[in-house]
Amino acid sequence: MKSQLRTITHSLNARFVASTLTGLLLVELGLAQPGFLGHDRTRPLPPVVNPGYPSTPDKPGKAPSDAIVLFDGTDLSQWVAMDGEPTKWVIKDGAMECVPGSGYTRTLRCFGECQLHLEFATPAKVEGSSQGRGNSGVFFGGTRYELQVLDSYNNKTYADGSCGAIYNQYPPLVNASRPPGEWQTYDILWTPPKFDASGKLVAPARITAFHNGVLIHHNAELFGQTDWLSRPPYQAHPEKLPISLQDHGNPVRYRNIWVRELGQPGKPEFYLADKLLDSYCGKYQVNRDNVAEITRRDGNLLLKFFGYEFVLFAESPTHFFAKTVDVQAKFDFSGATKTVEISVGEDGGFKARKL
Ligand code: MG
Repeated sequence: MKSQLRTITHSLNARFVASTLTGLLLVELGLAQPGFLGHDRTRPLPPVVNPGYPSTPDKPGKAPSDAIVLFDGTDLSQWVAMDGEPTKWVIKDGAMECVPGSGYTRTLRCFGECQLHLEFATPAKVEGSSQGRGNSGVFFGGTRYELQVLDSYNNKTYADGSCGAIYNQYPPLVNASRPPGEWQTYDILWTPPKFDASGKLVAPARITAFHNGVLIHHNAELFGQTDWLSRPPYQAHPEKLPISLQDHGNPVRYRNIWVRELGQPGKPEFYLADKLLDSYCGKYQVNRDNVAEITRRDGNLLLKFFGYEFVLFAESPTHFFAKTVDVQAKFDFSGATKTVEISVGEDGGFKARKL
């Protein structure tokens, strides 16, 4: 008995020593917490953010200090029609309102992974039923992925089309709707899908969302674009694209819209007006023997020169950049001669004249 006890004690001691040694070894090797020791004094502190304050029914709140304010009740400068022309939505009593038949509105700026806050109110005067009542929607990826906006207060419709649904995919976990006419909030975490260079899906899009502070999606994985009657598969697209609001024929109102870019967002990117992008398209004389060619693909420009092709993203109305190589293009259309200055890897490049 005594020797059995001694064996067990030895075995326990050996295990304790072994696990302690393993722990010490991991700490020694810096593996317990990659990059930093516990309580490491050299670890950078998180950036300070003034969190603003929440809205009340009568008064919109204030965005956190590091947010990009998309609508504060005073102007629509961040919003355009889908082709980049001025939006026909209007401001009424500090809210932006959908004018039925005017078309979707979208942000001028593009966003990838982000935290979006917005508030909406469906019409106080109840008209229509099911999908015809207070219908709008918040779209990520341009118009690809919709989080439904609907008057779902005592309004029966199909589950995956009710307020807060990831349309035609996931109903909200609960129906947290307020009555029509009252202000409601969405707080959404958007993770865009990832595609490899050949356009193959690497990771699906994900949405976590709160409706009036109540969780309605917990890291839901989208299985493609959202659509009516069909479930189209993913098609490769740029990571950063505008956020859009739907015109579904009802005068739904929005207020206090702000977004915080997450991850490593890089340079600001804009989805300019089709007309402006088209004006840049054409051939440019680089030198006696070479011509560069610029065409448009959706909201981006494609630059072809010396046998190479680059997608160019807009960081301003005149300045574009590639993401695979440090190629930049600056257009100057202010004078009689229209030019693009193309630079590679350093400032100053060659100027090419539009033919
Ligand atoms: Mg909708």
